[in-house]
Amino acid sequence: GLDGFESTDAIIVIGATNRPDVLDPALLRPGRFDRHIVVDQPDVIGREKILGIHIRNQKVPVDDSVKLDELSKGVPGMSGADLANMVNEAALLAARKNHENVTHLDFEEAKEKLMMGAKRHMVISDDEREIIAYHEAGHAMLMEYIEEFDPLLKVTILPQGRGLGVTMPLPEERKLMSKQFCLASMAVALGGRVAEKLIFDELTSGASNDIEKVTAIARHMVCEWGMSEKLGATALGEKEGEVFLGKDIGH
Ligand code: ZN
Repeated sequence: GLDGFESTDAIIVIGATNRPDVLDPALLRPGRFDRHIVVDQPDVIGREKILGIHIRNQKVPVDDSVKLDELSKGVPGMSGADLANMVNEAALLAARKNHENVTHLDFEEAKEKLMMGAKRHMVISDDEREIIAYHEAGHAMLMEYIEEFDPLLKVTILPQGRGLGVTMPLPEERKLMSKQFCLASMAVALGGRVAEKLIFDELTSGASNDIEKVTAIARHMVCEWGMSEKLGATALGEKEGEVFLGKDIGH
């Protein structure tokens, strides 16, 4: 309990949790903890500073080429721990390549490894490689041409993580999803499937991640963000506890 302190005692009690949702409400009542401070994931400036701190603390020798602001922009949503990991990984990669100092490219490579989990050893036939190339090119073209979406950062058909290839945007920091951006994201996500259909007149399972993404965005737009012209500004689905109405419409 927090009892037993006189108001004149110079004692500050600090508590921290990553699960505020399961806290005993008694702890949150007035007079218990006076200030509630939300520590969110770091933003672009925060990430840059955190990278700098880890580089200094771990005494990682970095090259002049390293641009922390650029690295920070490319990793939205990364936590402090992720960033520490990235610094470690970059140092390991540099050591493996006998670099005297860690270069910007070492950092980029570390970032990709952490974000995608490189799977470079996978064997893929030429025919499949061609399909994957057109698929990724479809994403990349739309990313270039659709202005409402983030700019294209890089595209590759070297297998990474869950995907056989990847097309990466340089994402902007956003807290709000506009309807235009949602629609643009869906178009870009479907670019791979459309390219396959245009060139080979065939569908493959390669688009499964994309379809998952598109479905999730569409569901959010209609059921949570009230962006459907037909259904209007209504929250539908289990989240709001309206299982009886929401589930049917949602499905
Ligand atoms: Zn795809």
